[in-house]
Amino acid sequence: MKIVRVATESGPAWGFVEGEEVLRLLHGPFDALDAGETLGRLNELSLLAPVQPSKIVCVGRNYAAHAAEHDAEVPSEPLLFLKPPSSLIAPGAHIVLPELSSRVEHECELALIIGKRCRGVAEELAWEQVFGITCGNDVTARDLQRADSQWTRGKGFDTFCPLGPWIVTGLGEEEASRLDVSCRVNGELRQKANTAQMVFSPAFLIAYMSQVMTLEAGDVIMTGTPSGVGPLEPGDLVEVSIGGVGTLSNPVV
Ligand code: ZN
Repeated sequence: MKIVRVATESGPAWGFVEGEEVLRLLHGPFDALDAGETLGRLNELSLLAPVQPSKIVCVGRNYAAHAAEHDAEVPSEPLLFLKPPSSLIAPGAHIVLPELSSRVEHECELALIIGKRCRGVAEELAWEQVFGITCGNDVTARDLQRADSQWTRGKGFDTFCPLGPWIVTGLGEEEASRLDVSCRVNGELRQKANTAQMVFSPAFLIAYMSQVMTLEAGDVIMTGTPSGVGPLEPGDLVEVSIGGVGTLSNPVV
């Protein structure tokens, strides 16, 4: 199932894709999935970021080749950080390069959407907490990330977390561990990897994070970026693609 959040005349609405149409989800996505009226055709609707999370929990250096391109060690435990929910933007929305930085880079990532409140989850049960997956771009001001001893400034600017275009539900843990992840800028391939190359698996990450903080329905987990990160310039178009999901496109201004 493909779950979307769309703009309507009466405000944001949840829906799911049925053929070329989007049908309203009467109780939102995390409860009983009862369908209401049609909201319109998918290609004519204005898509929003597919969730409104209480937090976006991220992991650094979760692909060995990406750690190596920054001369960094692969950590022995996941290296966690947060992005503020205010950094979220919709598919198609502009990534705004801030004046404070002279080096903003793309990071394509598999994003997991949590489906129910959980805390202290065992790794064997962790995948059951996942509602679905989508494409994420952990946009990073690399110069500020390097200048600071932690990453709030480098990772936290408004527009630095494109997410979408929709949530794909029903994927098994095995399938999610064999997905192609790639990033193109102006059509040129910059990053390409498979989620099988992650240092820490999605289930391990959820279990690890949930030892620290309660995860809520709608929370976003960014699972780290592969090698090939690079700079963005005004006028660029960044496309993050994940096998079985689709492509998240955002212009840069
Ligand atoms: Zn990242």
